[in-house]
Amino acid sequence: MIPNLNWTEAAGAVDAASAILIVTHVSPDGDAIGSLLGLGNALVERGKRPDLAVDGGVPDYLRFLPGADAVIDTLPAKTWDVMISVDASDETRTGRVGEVGRANSQLVINLDHHATNTGFGQIHLVDPAAVSASEVIARWLTAIEQPITPAIAQPLLTGLVTDTIGFRTSSVRPETLDLARLLMAAGASLQTIMARTLNSKPYKALMLWRSAMQHIALEDGIISSDIPLADLHAAGYDEPTDADFVNLLIQVDEAVIAAVFKETLDNAVELSLRSKLGYDVGAVAFALGGGGHRQAAGATVSGTLAEVRERVMPLLRAAVEQGKSVNPSCSVF
Ligand code: 5GP
Ligand code: MN
Repeated sequence: MIPNLNWTEAAGAVDAASAILIVTHVSPDGDAIGSLLGLGNALVERGKRPDLAVDGGVPDYLRFLPGADAVIDTLPAKTWDVMISVDASDETRTGRVGEVGRANSQLVINLDHHATNTGFGQIHLVDPAAVSASEVIARWLTAIEQPITPAIAQPLLTGLVTDTIGFRTSSVRPETLDLARLLMAAGASLQTIMARTLNSKPYKALMLWRSAMQHIALEDGIISSDIPLADLHAAGYDEPTDADFVNLLIQVDEAVIAAVFKETLDNAVELSLRSKLGYDVGAVAFALGGGGHRQAAGATVSGTLAEVRERVMPLLRAAVEQGKSVNPSCSVF
């Protein structure tokens, strides 16, 4: 996709609007909430009173971010001139708030960094080269010469740090570090962000990892594990999660793709995928109705754990073969 960055058109739409809604994706991560709050706080500086919404609200570990208390999980009966969707590659990713927001908004701005973005909405600020949606927001604010206050910088740096797993992903470029420097200089605390996000885990995450370790298998360069509902509940979780276990699996030298299959309540499986450079799991996720990036992607697939594995594993094997044929030097097993 060719980046289509209508900075001034988007700023014009926002400035002309009196009612603005910002939404982000379900099961929000650091970039989803960081982008929601960074942009929300910037619009407040611009004299707006935006509504900020996400299904389920802000996860506890991200409540330290400025403005988190104002985020709502259900929309009031209201209409908006502009709805801005951040960090969501397709419309369904924005859940219930996105659905209600779209039905009651005049115009949708699609701000994202996923290569699999479907191009929904009327104005697009989508750059697959950006490491995080928060990077797109920072560039937007810079393009329209909006000063970056500490309340804007802290959430935006959170998005940058969490989506790059602490500047470790292959998407990191010199410009990423320039932006981190700029946000720190504007008042963001990298120390606080690291302590609250990447260097923080509840004990139950390790309980979940302990059971997920029992299901690890390595085959054809693919390392995978299952999280059945019983294991999820035994560890103390209500919602499907792998507590970032997939990021541990992809570190294994003998694997080029990592997959975690998480059973959900409604006879479906949430799939988390990671890959080494040269292997594309974004395309696999997209083919399954999900999305993401070449190196990190996901999808929700209906069926039991066994059925979904049977459908997905051949696609992952094909992605391994495809990666090996395109760039043989990338095969590490
Ligand atoms: P994670 O494995 O951390 O949940 O997700 C990794 C990446 O895949 C993220 O960029 C996330 O946005 C994307 N992703 C995960 N699940 C889905 C999904 O169900 N649909 C879409 N479109 N993207 C997903
Ligand atoms: Mn993101």
